[in-house]
Amino acid sequence: MAAWQRWSATPHRKVRARRKRAAVGLEDRSTGLRGPARYNGQFMPELLAGKTALVLGVANKWSIAYAIASAFVREGASLVLTYQGERQQQTVEELGAELKAVRVLNCDVTRQEDLDHLVAELKQLAPIHTVVHSIAFANREDLTRPFVETGREGYLLAQEVSAYSLIAVSRAVAPLMSAGGSIATLTYLGSTRVVQNYNVMGVAKAALEACMRYLANDLGPANIRVNAISAGPIKTASARAVKDFSKMLGAANIAPLRRNTDPAEVADAAVFLASDLGRGVTGNILFVDAGFHIIGLSSVD
Ligand code: NAP
Repeated sequence: MAAWQRWSATPHRKVRARRKRAAVGLEDRSTGLRGPARYNGQFMPELLAGKTALVLGVANKWSIAYAIASAFVREGASLVLTYQGERQQQTVEELGAELKAVRVLNCDVTRQEDLDHLVAELKQLAPIHTVVHSIAFANREDLTRPFVETGREGYLLAQEVSAYSLIAVSRAVAPLMSAGGSIATLTYLGSTRVVQNYNVMGVAKAALEACMRYLANDLGPANIRVNAISAGPIKTASARAVKDFSKMLGAANIAPLRRNTDPAEVADAAVFLASDLGRGVTGNILFVDAGFHIIGLSSVD
């Protein structure tokens, strides 16, 4: 071992270097992982200052939409949240108050009257610059039995809530995006690969991704970009409906980054797409899954 290698390998120097990297946000002190696992806003201030963002799909603090809404607020966006029905109202209103949302609105995406009401409220805040569609639903029974057992009603329900709603929301809100902007949706690798028990939701995600591409083409001339973020498995209420969801978290063992996905990382990717930094990106699927999607055969035991 050369002298400089012995020098840099001494434990106290390693600790000091790690503290230094953590101080500038280049290392997560909790995980010791190189690279900013948590962006601390130190490099570029307020990427979304002056922008108004609509975020659909906050159910609770564990929702991916909540992480995205928090990151948008950190970046200076003005926020509108929606919830579905009275069951979620109090929770989402409390979260909205905490995030200083300018509106918290009821919107079941399967109800045209709710979408019309949403548009009426948003008109007062126009222009809207960015929309996040973080919504999906399938009957639990369709996520626990063989895919071949999927019934017609369950199939159509998953498609309507999880894929068609992106079209409905885009058609409703695009006229209010007069300054251009970004629409982002959330997808998962089960759209193109078979993931045990993901079943009807995988098919809905395939449709969602195709919808995203067609919308990107339609709305591009209005300078509205449409993209999808393909997140790795994250423990949320929806995810837990998939039978044996915890097995999906095993992806961490073979993913290139050897860990699972942090909702904050998905949120920061959403900030990029919503910000002017993403101005040339549309019709794209951005994987935020610790790299799991590239793995064919892993060399890890
Ligand atoms: P979540 O917290 O349960 O969010 C799903 C949201 O969809 C909830 O707020 C839910 O509201 C809402 N929703 C369902 N039906 C609706 C309707 N008809 N109208 C309006 N809203 C409706 O779970 P999540 O994991 O954050 O899911 C967000 C998105 O990320 C989904 O598209 C999901 O497929 C995707 N995703 C998740 C993962 C993961 O591992 N968690 C990975 C990749 C992609 P209610 O709670 O009131 O039903």
